Formats: sequence, structure tokens, C-alpha cells
Amino acid sequence: MAGRRVLVTGGVRGIGRAIAEHLAAGGARVVVCGRSAPREVLPHGLRFLPCDVADAAAVTGLFEALQEEIGGLDILVNNAGLAGGNSLAPDADDEMWLAIVATCLHGTYFCSKAALPLLPDGTGRIVNIASILGLRGVPDQTAYCAAKHGVVGFTRSLALALAPRRITVNAICPGWVDTPMAAGRFRELGISPADAAAGAPTGRITSPEEVAAAVAYLCSPAAGNLTGQALVLDGGGLAGP
Ligand code: NDP
Repeated sequence: MAGRRVLVTGGVRGIGRAIAEHLAAGGARVVVCGRSAPREVLPHGLRFLPCDVADAAAVTGLFEALQEEIGGLDILVNNAGLAGGNSLAPDADDEMWLAIVATCLHGTYFCSKAALPLLPDGTGRIVNIASILGLRGVPDQTAYCAAKHGVVGFTRSLALALAPRRITVNAICPGWVDTPMAAGRFRELGISPADAAAGAPTGRITSPEEVAAAVAYLCSPAAGNLTGQALVLDGGGLAGP
């Protein structure tokens, strides 16, 4: 990772923060972005740039600032995401659908599009943090499932488009991960972290650091011929019926 230039969207907290810290610990120069600035001073090796990835003009501005900060880009991690239920009742508004699809799917598209001219042939990497809900459905989360299935499809298509440049594009599909987002969803769903853990064959949920380690592997030279894949990190849930 030494000297590699990285952007982790939504890297201020949760999974993105763990990814940013893991890659920075390996010597990468890492920019994290989010809509709100971090409340605390970021650890050594991490810089913050403000950006709402759902806003195409803001993403253009982010990439201009990024080039000034770290001089280019070797690795893009599309991690920023928004979760929640949405209703298709006749009187339901469209707010959640639009917000979830805009952040998870459009944000991944906008950032990838802006990254393509910068990523070096041979060693460039894109890793998209999708979800197990990019591979299976659950009721009442049509927006999140649609957006994350979209991210997996986007990953597969872009991997093929970039294969001649030997830039790899992969997705990671976690089940529950111990983050502020998961804590909020547990409250909304009225379940405890222990209930969520019991739902996985391994009896536990995934840590942000475990997702970060998978990202680091996908960005390593050892994974140079691994592309277009959706790597599931869910304690074995998808392996069963
Ligand atoms: P958190 O809510 O804990 O963190 C999300 C981060 O994304 C924050 O830093 C947030 O900062 C940022 N963010 C949200 N919206 C935007 C936006 N429009 N533009 C820029 N940054 C944004 O989430 P997690 O760490 O749990 O999730 C990270 C990713 O992993 C998401 O894509 C999520 O869907 C996925 N995932 C999470 C799972 C879980 O159980 N936690 C399971 C499977 C997948 P700010 O609000 O300041 O913008």
C-alpha cells in the first residue's frame, strides 16, 4: 500500500473509516469524504474532503480537490451508503427511495466515472461496498435492495469494460456489520445485536476491520487477476437455503 493514493467515500465513520485506517496503516495516502466533517482530528494518513456523492457537481469538485491533495488516484472505494425501509403504499412519499438510490447507486456511478481517467492501467482498483441485499431480497427494503443489486450489476459490467486496462473492479457484500448504520437499523427493526448475530450460521456479525482486510486483499498485487466478483462476508448465511 505504500504511497498508493486512495479515496474512501463515506470514510469518516463505520466500515469506511476502518477501510481508510487499514489502508493508511499500510502506507497509503487516504482521502475520506462525507457530507459532514469529522468531529475529531483524523488519525495520521487520513485527510477529509466534504462531498455528497449523490450530487454529480459535488463529485466533480471532490476529484479536483483530491488531485490537489494527493496528486491522483490509485484506488477508489465506493463505500458511502444509506439504509432504511421504504413503502410502496399509495400515500407514501418517494423521499427514501430517491435518497437511497441516489447515494448507494448514483454515488457509486458518479465517483467511478470521475475516477476512470485517473486510475493507472495495471494497478488501478475499484472496490464497491454493496451488501448481502445486493444478492438477495428482504421485504420493505425495495430501494436498498434495488440499489445494492444495481451496485453488483454495475461492478460486473465495469469489470469487463476495464479488464483490457487490467484495472480490477469488485464488490464486497457484507451481512450485518457492527457500525452506527447497523445500530440505527437494529433500533428501527426492534431487534438486538444478539438477534442479528444469531441469524448468521457463525453466530456473530462481521466487524468493520474484517471488511477492511477484504478490501486490502482486493487491492493487493495478489488479487491482480480477480475482477468482477461479489465477495460475500456474512458468516455463511448465503451459503444455506
Ligand atoms: P454508516 O452510516 O455507519 O456510515 C456511512 C458513511 O457514509 C458516513 O461516513 C456518512 O457520512 C457517509 N455518507 C452517507 N451518505 C453519504 C453521501 N450521500 N455522500 C457522502 N458520504 C455519505 O454506514 P456503514 O459504515 O454501516 O456502511 C458503509 C457501507 O456498507 C454502506 O454502503 C452500507 O450500505 C454498506 N453495508 C453496511 C452494512 C452494515 O450492517 N453496517 C451491511 C452491508 C452493507 P455523512 O453522513 O457525514 O455523509
